Amino acid sequence: MSIQSINPATNEVIKTFEEMTETAVEQAISKSVETFTTWKKTTFSTRSELLHKVAGLLREKKKDLAKLISLEMGKLVSQAEGEIKLSAEIFDYYANHGEGFLKDKILDPVHGQALVRCSPLGVLLGVQPWNFPFYQVARFAAPNIMVGNTLLIKHASIVPQCAIEIEKIFLEAGAPSGLYTNLLISGKRASALVSDKRIKGVSLTGSEAAGASVAAEAGKHLKKSVLELGGSDAFIVLEDADIDKAVEWAVVGRINNNGECCIASKRFIAVEEIAEDFFEKLKVKLAELVVGDPAEPNTQLGPLSSEDAAVHIADQVKRAVEGGAKISLGGKRVDHAGAYMQATVLTNMLPDNPVYYEEFFGPVAVFFKVKNEQEAIDLANDSPFGLGGSVFTQDIERGKRVADQIDTGMVFINHPTWTQADLPFGGTKGSGYGRELSELGIDEFVNKKLIRVS
Ligand code: NAP
Repeated sequence: MSIQSINPATNEVIKTFEEMTETAVEQAISKSVETFTTWKKTTFSTRSELLHKVAGLLREKKKDLAKLISLEMGKLVSQAEGEIKLSAEIFDYYANHGEGFLKDKILDPVHGQALVRCSPLGVLLGVQPWNFPFYQVARFAAPNIMVGNTLLIKHASIVPQCAIEIEKIFLEAGAPSGLYTNLLISGKRASALVSDKRIKGVSLTGSEAAGASVAAEAGKHLKKSVLELGGSDAFIVLEDADIDKAVEWAVVGRINNNGECCIASKRFIAVEEIAEDFFEKLKVKLAELVVGDPAEPNTQLGPLSSEDAAVHIADQVKRAVEGGAKISLGGKRVDHAGAYMQATVLTNMLPDNPVYYEEFFGPVAVFFKVKNEQEAIDLANDSPFGLGGSVFTQDIERGKRVADQIDTGMVFINHPTWTQADLPFGGTKGSGYGRELSELGIDEFVNKKLIRVS
């Protein structure tokens, strides 16, 4: 099978790669096992030095890497530069704090003396998505390299050049062969790898279907897994919100990364006192977006990551309308070559609509008007997903009370759901389990060993 790198702004094939053979995969696993035997004995300062070097190389190559990201998955080049900067920050963050996070925890038991010591698990498999090809890898790789684990990365098939580039950066930074290995294989083959006895844990960021497949294998073989899956974040606007500020953030929350974010604001829920005002202003702002080539500095909305993604979201909109929703803005593919979709606003989306519970992974906002705060919370929670969410209010204590009642892993007050190295990231319900980033993110693939002295 071949893997193709396609420019979604034109739908032209840029490069074609052959998948790795079974023999090559076998060699990669063996090498990763061998490297683990030495990497687990390295000092924190050796690991930290490597991560700082990776961060430095990312910064040095930022412009070229950003162009590559944009070429393969359509992100605006300006945003791709932001992704590289954030990825470098994550490597630096774990390089600076990893040792402290992993230090012995001295216990105070009723009898004897005891401590908890962190040790690595071994070879891990990381299955990664295309929407943030560098940042997603950084979230998984930086903490786990600091722990002393070794990594096999199965990156998304539509970003093979980014995947290869990341591996090269590790080698250029001085990583031993087998510490970070890119596996150029299909998703199905990645699931099958989970059963390999030499692989001690698996982390997947992607769709629920892929997550369920990997988690089923991990469960069957009694291995630790972390899943970061889809989301359908609510963006609640209460009557005391600063409406203009809420509208500005609503556009960013929905359109960032051309709408292809797990933590994008997807369901806009406004209470009736201010609903009309917010809705009209949101529509105007979305209608004004400059759509076009992601490499052009003026572009605000680029193509989706692939023609398949554009076809999928256009079909979702069509099914939503057949199910009773109304299009208030956009609703169609953009009329030129490439995987483009108009910024779209849907209203009248009711629970009996077949797409009511689906995630819109693109520039489609669904708008709801509710009577009051309680209805807003109930609607926000009426989702199979539990990733993030936002509450807009000028009363911060009220915002925190509302946040308490939202069933997700993250809630932001007066901001769309966002990410940075020192904040934990992850969801509940259909959005998966486990956490990445911050101190919590380094704990997932660690053996916390009790050592007891009598
Ligand atoms: P996807 O199809 O699930 O792809 C993600 C990764 O999983 C790719 O590397 C893919 O490989 C692999 N994969 C696919 N099927 C697999 C299987 N049966 N077993 C093992 N691996 C498999 O995801 P997508 O639809 O392209 O990406 C968008 C989804 O990811 C959205 O739902 C989004 O919300 C979610 N996401 C979540 C987060 C988060 O942190 N929670 C972050 C980003 C994205 P191939 O490319 O070879 O198919």
